[in-house]
Amino acid sequence: MTEQFANLHTIFNSKQSFVITTHVNPDGDAIGSEVALALFLSNKGKKVTIINQSETPDHLLFLTDFFPVKIYSGSLDHHILNTDCFCVVDTNSPKRFSALADAVHKSKAYKICIDHHLEQEHFADQYIVDTDVPATSELLYRIFKSDNPESITKPIADALYTGIMTDTGSFKFPKTDAETHIITADLLKRGVDPYSIYQSVFESGEINNLHLLGKALERIEVCHNGLIASMVLPRSVFNETKTNEADVENLTQYVLSIKNVVVGLVFIELDEGVKVSFRSKGNIAINTVAKQFGGGGHMNASGARLKNIGLREAVEAVIEKTKEIL
Ligand code: 5GP
Ligand code: MN
Repeated sequence: MTEQFANLHTIFNSKQSFVITTHVNPDGDAIGSEVALALFLSNKGKKVTIINQSETPDHLLFLTDFFPVKIYSGSLDHHILNTDCFCVVDTNSPKRFSALADAVHKSKAYKICIDHHLEQEHFADQYIVDTDVPATSELLYRIFKSDNPESITKPIADALYTGIMTDTGSFKFPKTDAETHIITADLLKRGVDPYSIYQSVFESGEINNLHLLGKALERIEVCHNGLIASMVLPRSVFNETKTNEADVENLTQYVLSIKNVVVGLVFIELDEGVKVSFRSKGNIAINTVAKQFGGGGHMNASGARLKNIGLREAVEAVIEKTKEIL
């Protein structure tokens, strides 16, 4: 990666204006990576704009105090069309920032993708993709450090810590290794207060989210000799609890918490179609099932959005395909 990082810094130094984006329904790693990269570049005197397809979820808004995030509308196209450099973080698929994809395609900007997902798609001029790191934020830490260790200021460290903490499931998912902890320790030395970040992310919810959680837990079922657990959330559950799909992060941990279950599935009925979260334990490559439904992600954590399909139909089809790989 050393040579790739050096090339990247050459590009960063030679361009003046940057637009950064990430995937739809951004998580802590997505917003953390964007804000960290935006600060890194603006500290070099660059003009930087973050433009996202989706609103920032409430529990991550504290990061946008460090650097503002604009929500995409056609009136922002001129930023994308006229920027020198366009950076995508935490996804490698234009489908996952589809609202901006047209403008990105038309833009003559130099395009960079910094990510940790499998099966990269071809849209960028330069890819820095490491599928072994648990978070894009960890990759960015390495990128920044290879330029200048002093570049990792306290706000950048806060943003990177948030990304690493959330994408590792608070340092427990399988890709969390010694290097992750060494990097995290360095971020703490730079002033990150872990409890303060924990409070911002995990102790700032609404009571409605807990009511949603209560209803969601009641809906967990197991099948296929207890190997598959699923949670099916129709629109009515969201209406009753005055919540929406952005409030359902981390429900997947509950379906996987059951003894002997090796695949956990969460189905969310959207206004159009169904969002499915796929999770697996051990060496079960659940991304192969997500792919069959037009999605993707990591071996043990993937997702897909199914269009033109009802909730029941989606559940049946996905469970059928899941059984085939077990
Ligand atoms: P989640 O279930 O938390 O939404 O997503 C789990 C993982 O799957 C994330 O790493 C995410 O990037 C990936 N993922 C989620 N939805 C999609 C999708 O529609 N397409 C692709 N290619 N990946 C997805
Ligand atoms: Mn990520």
